[in-house]
Order: sequence, then C-alpha cells, then structure tokens
Amino acid sequence: MHFKKILTIFLAAVLTFSSLTVFCVGAEEPEGLEVEVEAESTASAISSQPMIYNAGEEIKVTLRIGRNTGVTSVMLYIDYDETVLELIEYTAAGLLTEDDSLTAYSTSKGDAYLAFYSENYPNVSCATGVLAEITFQAKAVCAADTFVQVSLFQNNEGLCTLWDENDKKMKPVPFSSENAHFSVHSIDAGEGVVTAPTCQEGGYTTYVCRACKETVIGNLTGATGHTAGEAVEENRVEPTCTEDGSYDSVVYCTVCESEISRETVIIGAVGHTAGEAVEENRVEPTCTEDGSYDSVVYCTVCESEISRETITIGAVGHDLHDVIAKAPTCTEAGWNAYQACRREGCGYSTYQELPASGHRFGEPTVYEPNYHQEGYSVHTCIVCAYEERYDFVPALELLPGDVNGDGKITQTDYLLLKRAILKLSPLPEEFAAAGDFDGDGKTTAADYLLLKRYILFGEVDASSLE
Ligand SMILES: [Zn+2]
Ligand SMILES: [Zn+2]
Ligand SMILES: [Zn+2]
Ligand SMILES: [Zn+2]
Ligand SMILES: [Zn+2]
Repeated sequence: MHFKKILTIFLAAVLTFSSLTVFCVGAEEPEGLEVEVEAESTASAISSQPMIYNAGEEIKVTLRIGRNTGVTSVMLYIDYDETVLELIEYTAAGLLTEDDSLTAYSTSKGDAYLAFYSENYPNVSCATGVLAEITFQAKAVCAADTFVQVSLFQNNEGLCTLWDENDKKMKPVPFSSENAHFSVHSIDAGEGVVTAPTCQEGGYTTYVCRACKETVIGNLTGATGHTAGEAVEENRVEPTCTEDGSYDSVVYCTVCESEISRETVIIGAVGHTAGEAVEENRVEPTCTEDGSYDSVVYCTVCESEISRETITIGAVGHDLHDVIAKAPTCTEAGWNAYQACRREGCGYSTYQELPASGHRFGEPTVYEPNYHQEGYSVHTCIVCAYEERYDFVPALELLPGDVNGDGKITQTDYLLLKRAILKLSPLPEEFAAAGDFDGDGKTTAADYLLLKRYILFGEVDASSLE
C-alpha cells in the first residue's frame, strides 16, 4: 500500500492544461462520479456478494464507472488483502474515448492504482463503463477482514476533479465508491442450505464461512415466475341490446394464486331482436284521398322502437251508382241521369239540376169589380192548369142614398126609396143597402125623409128628424 511516483507526474501534467470546460450533468443525476465494483468467481457457480471463494479459485473484479456527470481526471486507489488474494492480472480497459488516458499500476503488497484523465484536457468526460479488470487468485480461506475496497487515492477529494474555466483551476467533483468493495469468505460448497426460489423471489444457498463463521449467501437463482393457470372470467356484465357488456379475463398463478394479469374483455352489444311489425296511427283512406298507417317494429327484449315506416293505403275510389233522369216540372227541378257515390260522407255526384221550367200562362181573363166583390185578372198555365189571379181591384163602394146605383143621388133615388118604404116595389137587390141613408143599419122612413131633405136643401141632419 504505497503511493507511486508515476501518479505525481501525471497530476502535474494535468494541471498545466487550460481550455473550455463542458458540463454534462443530467437532469436527475446527482453531481459527481460513482465507481462500482463487480466480482465474479470463475471457478465456482457462486456469484454474489459478499464474494465466496475457495483456495485456488480465480476471482475476476471489474471496476466500472456507474455514474459520471463530468470529470476531467480521477486517481483511484484499490486496496486488497494480499494475505488472501494475489493479484495476477490488472488491465486498464480504456473505456472512455480513444483520446483518454488510463493508467493502471499495482503491487504485490495489496495496492493497486488507477489514473484517468482526458487526453484533450480540460474537456470533460462524461463516460461510463468499464475502467479496469483485475483478476485475483485466492491464496487461502477467508479472514474476517478480507476485502477489496476502491477509494480515491489517499482519500484526497482533490483527486477527482473538473476543470473550472471561470477560476482557471481544477475543482473537486463529488466522488462515491459505496458499491466499490466486497468481502470474501471461505465456504464448503456441499454444506449450503438451499432456499428454493418462489414465483416472485429468488432462491439462494446459505453457507457458514469456515473462517469467520458468518452466514453468507450464495448460489442465487432467479425467481421462478408465476405459473399461469387457465384464464377465468370475473365481473361479468351482460351486454344489452344497445350497450356493450364486459368481463375480466383473469389469470392466476396455479402455484401461489397471485393474480398475474387482468384484462377487461368487451362483449359487444347484442343488438335488438325485432318482433313482428305492428300497425299504429291508422288513417283510413277515403274515395279520393290516401290513408296510411305506421308499420312499427319493436324489440322483443327491451321494447325499444327499432323502426317505423309509414305505409300508404291508396284511395279506394268512389262506389258509384246510377240515378235515372227526372224531368223538371213547372215548379220542381229535375235532373239528367247521373252517378253518385254510395260511400257515407263522400258526397261525390255528377248530379246537375235542371231548373223548374215555370208556368206558361195563356191569355188572361179580366173580371171587373162590382159592389159585391173585387175585380181581378186570372190566367191559367197551359201545361199544368195552374190558375193564378192578379191585378186585384177593390169592390165598388155604394153611395148612401144611391139606390139605383148610377153613382149619383137624384130625384129618381128619392122616388125609388119612397116606393120601397111604401112597399110598392122593393129596391133593386143589388143596391138595397144604399137605402140606409143615415147609416143606422136599417132602411126606414127616416132614411126617406132625410134623402128628400138632402135633395131639396142639400143638407143632412139626422137630429132634425127627432
Ligand atoms: Zn469468512
Ligand atoms: Zn405464483
Ligand atoms: Zn332491444
Ligand atoms: Zn265516393
Ligand atoms: Zn204550369
């Protein structure tokens, strides 16, 4: 475990460079450099940390950079127990770029060194990957403190650095080597206690180290994984006519009964089941106008209306019957032969009225009025003999005292009335009523005396007779 001159020279060289610095910090990565170690025993099936080996076995150790947010140079120190391990090969793998410089050096005293710097320094390297490979050979069984540990040389934080362009000098970069160590034990491979793997957890063999008596674990085997059973159906929702159903197709492990997968499977809607078409909203046709009805199909399952079609029912046409002709008369209309629809409410007909012809009157006969009756004209229809009277003239009025009906009151009237009163001869029957000269309803001697006075004196005064 000695510091070597070559590293001092290397560091001095690094510090003389100067140019642009580039950062390559990732979004989530903690800043700095992390070094890890992986160890593998080539002579044994055992391959886990802590490392187990037996004398004579080779142990290959890989040194790698697991995380690197930017480094210009680093110098590592690898410490190992030289009483147990013999370093038989040490190779700097040259992981980075072709230009980078990687130098490895080891002793047989349990020390190894490794220096890296960027050849085009001070550019930053963000490389990750294998830095070096070291092959050890086990010399003896385990010792309790047997280990391999990687650290910064002399634990000097100034040996993992980044060029700071602003300050023109190297600055330390955080360094981690938490996973850059392992310990070694010696076991009897035949004495392990096997823990079988389960579906989800790996199996392993538990050994007790012959040297330190610690319990160590090796022979790791992967989890077996689940054993898928037949898919089973769960949470079934039956589809309806219009809506999809679904179920979960679930696979369980036949070994541990864990649910391995669950897939929702859609069961398509089954669609409606059409029933017999039914008739709705029927409107009967008439003689001249179409009727209609809706032909409706319902789903027999959900009763939804699936379709509705309006069907036209053609007009039925008239139900005609013949009506024979009838001639018009003087007073009543007639018609020609026609056809009429018998259907109730239709009213269709070709009926055409032949108007009444009216009477045809012959020459009129004129009757003059007299003292007993009115005068008038009369004519008679030559077709139907209907008689019609018209041009009425009022009956003639008697002049009181004019007993001979000549329209005047004269001496003659006086003589005729006197003879009638004396019962010598009656008044002409036609004018007898005119004898009641004073209008008292009777023909008496008073009428005769008044008529005489009227003729003589031109006056009539009935009261003078009393
Ligand atoms: Zn041990
Ligand atoms: Zn399982
Ligand atoms: Zn339906
Ligand atoms: Zn009709
Ligand atoms: Zn007539």
